[in-house]
Amino acid sequence: MIYLDNNATTRTAPEVLAAIEPFLNQFYGNPSSSHSFGRESRCAIENAREQTADALGANAASEIVFTSGGTESTNWAIRAALELKPDKKRIVTTKVEHEVVARTCEHLQTKGYEIILLDVDENGLLDLDAVRAAVDEKTALVSVMQANNETGVIFPVEEIGKIVKENSNALFHVDGVQAIGKIPVSLKETEIDFFAVSGHKFHAPKGIGALFVRDNLPLAPFFIGGGQENRRRAGTENLTGIVALGAAFELTKKLDFQSEIRILRNRLENEILKNIPDTCLNGAKKENLRLPNTTNISFAGIQGEAILAHLDAHEIYASTGSACNSETHTASPVLSAMNTPYREAMGAIRFSLSRLTTAEEIEKTLQILPEIIEKLRKISPLI
Ligand code: PLP
Repeated sequence: MIYLDNNATTRTAPEVLAAIEPFLNQFYGNPSSSHSFGRESRCAIENAREQTADALGANAASEIVFTSGGTESTNWAIRAALELKPDKKRIVTTKVEHEVVARTCEHLQTKGYEIILLDVDENGLLDLDAVRAAVDEKTALVSVMQANNETGVIFPVEEIGKIVKENSNALFHVDGVQAIGKIPVSLKETEIDFFAVSGHKFHAPKGIGALFVRDNLPLAPFFIGGGQENRRRAGTENLTGIVALGAAFELTKKLDFQSEIRILRNRLENEILKNIPDTCLNGAKKENLRLPNTTNISFAGIQGEAILAHLDAHEIYASTGSACNSETHTASPVLSAMNTPYREAMGAIRFSLSRLTTAEEIEKTLQILPEIIEKLRKISPLI
């Protein structure tokens, strides 16, 4: 099979598997136990916290709390921010956030919060003057993603953070889930208060993530009941998940920021755009404004779901992005926010590579895809 859906999830890396195996069958002590066997597990957790803090460029390991993934981290950050700013009722975010932020903000609107959804342009980019205009003294929280899961478009979170702090005393949360392992991240010198990560997006298993919380911020507990995670998240720690996350973060330090993936992604993207008629790229054209592993291409006039089904028959796995709804025939909210015309938005396919993707896989995909598109344009034109 050819797996080109790495923004959805990734294969657990062999190095990560090797790191966790001893903690499944050898060092399985409860990290809260006071005996030395339990302390082995505690040590492994604190080592993973150091690895995570170091890879994120945090000031201290105490700024890292382990969670079950990106969804929990972001929910927690939003709730914690609102509890820290009880008198402020404005939340500023964007129209292209992942559902975790979008749905949470919809819910908060029903509780009386004013939600400002910032527009993006046709390349998926934010207007920083619009950020400046939206953030004011009533603002409790600004939440933006660092990189978009559907298009790979990167937001300048360092600059946005400065704007937030110059214009308000709001807290600043970044959904960093798609950035880790794909672009360099260093939180130390930034104005970011909360930063959410998810292990399964960069070769750790599913169900483990972390939240960076700037050290001076008192974080309201997520689960109450025990003293784990410095009394911030009760429950026996996910030892193997945490060790895996640390190991996956170690691997990100070895990447020379993904130049090999970029070459493969560019080959896939350029060849499709050159050789298949009526195709276009969704997202910023400039390389430094997009993740190196992601390309989102519209095959105008065809249903993206039909393309996926034909690719699937060849065991090639891609995606239409996270939220294209084939049943209601509505385009993805991300592409809609970018004003992508309907016949292009409905035919959008996201290919997302990883460091395990090979040149042969890209060549095979390039060989098969044109036949599929030609066939579909004959049998099932959308418009
Ligand atoms: N944020 C973004 C940008 C994502 O792409 C995802 C996953 O698709 C999430 C958050 C949710 O992460 P998790 O699957 O770990 O809950």
